[in-house]
Amino acid sequence: MIVIMKPHCSQEQIDHVVGLLDEMGCDHCVIESSKQKVVEVLGARDHLDRHRLMNAPMVDRVLEKSEPILAADRSPGDRTREIPLGTSATVGGKKIAVIAGPCSVETESQLMDIAAAVKEAGGVGLRGGAFKPRTSPYSFQGLGEQGLEMLALAREKTGLAIITEVMCSEHVDLVAKYADVLQVGSRSMHSSPLLAAVGRQNKPILLKRGWSASVKELLMAAEYIMKVGNRNVILCERGIRTFETYTRNTLALAVVPEVKRISTLPIIVDPSHGTGRRDLVTPMSNAAIACGADGLLIEVHRDPDNAWSDGDQSLDLDQFRALMTGLQPFAAAGGRVV
Ligand code: PEP
Ligand code: MN
Repeated sequence: MIVIMKPHCSQEQIDHVVGLLDEMGCDHCVIESSKQKVVEVLGARDHLDRHRLMNAPMVDRVLEKSEPILAADRSPGDRTREIPLGTSATVGGKKIAVIAGPCSVETESQLMDIAAAVKEAGGVGLRGGAFKPRTSPYSFQGLGEQGLEMLALAREKTGLAIITEVMCSEHVDLVAKYADVLQVGSRSMHSSPLLAAVGRQNKPILLKRGWSASVKELLMAAEYIMKVGNRNVILCERGIRTFETYTRNTLALAVVPEVKRISTLPIIVDPSHGTGRRDLVTPMSNAAIACGADGLLIEVHRDPDNAWSDGDQSLDLDQFRALMTGLQPFAAAGGRVV
């Protein structure tokens, strides 16, 4: 196990960690370079209290030495990985990447109207499900390849990058033929064969947090993708299931600064699935940007009340325009632009 100290920690703070390890009966060794100071824990660790170490002043993190850390590879001074969104945008850079669109692709006219509004308001990506994971097998399941063709047409007309979900390994090639970014949904985050399949192709992946997955499980899911060669993984916080019922999910925004602390992967926030409520999407978008998110994934529809899926949490086009304008001061406060 290694205890990684924050940059500029003092000798007293290292001594404090060493003292804690002495109290816990653990052997140790201090390793110092010009960039980093770490305390390695050696030998038996029967009485080791990881939380006491993590809470000590100027401790950055405590890692198991055997833990693979591709997805949690942030060293002091590292920048967030900037990942392409199509040919003209990125996520993870100075500009906040707003990806918006309908929950499901429904018709060509629906998609083109929404895409034009997203582009005009300053969005950089168009979302829309062609293969839809639905709770009920009797609900609309998506248009399949026909939906992918409509998304490609919307890209041609607007220049927006296309982000759409792939639900199974058999569909990876098909979805990758049309999409700029492949979305792995909350329900699929634990599917290691799918994670490996998207890892073996070279389009970036938007990996949504499983609704009952811990942060570690989210990072480990990213690890499955990265391990086989695809390092372009964008993480997405979309809310988790709790006992709470006033929202569809509980949006866990503290994940954003936590991921920023331990990983160089960019992280975006989906306040639509995160709350399930149209009226909460704008305030939670502002909050997400204020706490350091690299972008947003937002459901927008030209007629939310008649949407084929997730209308309750979809903004109409005017509400989306207002959201984009309102984000600006929050972005500016964090040294970002929308
Ligand atoms: C979606 O973004 O369309 C979606 C189904 O989200 P999630 O996987 O987070 O439920
Ligand atoms: Mn949806």
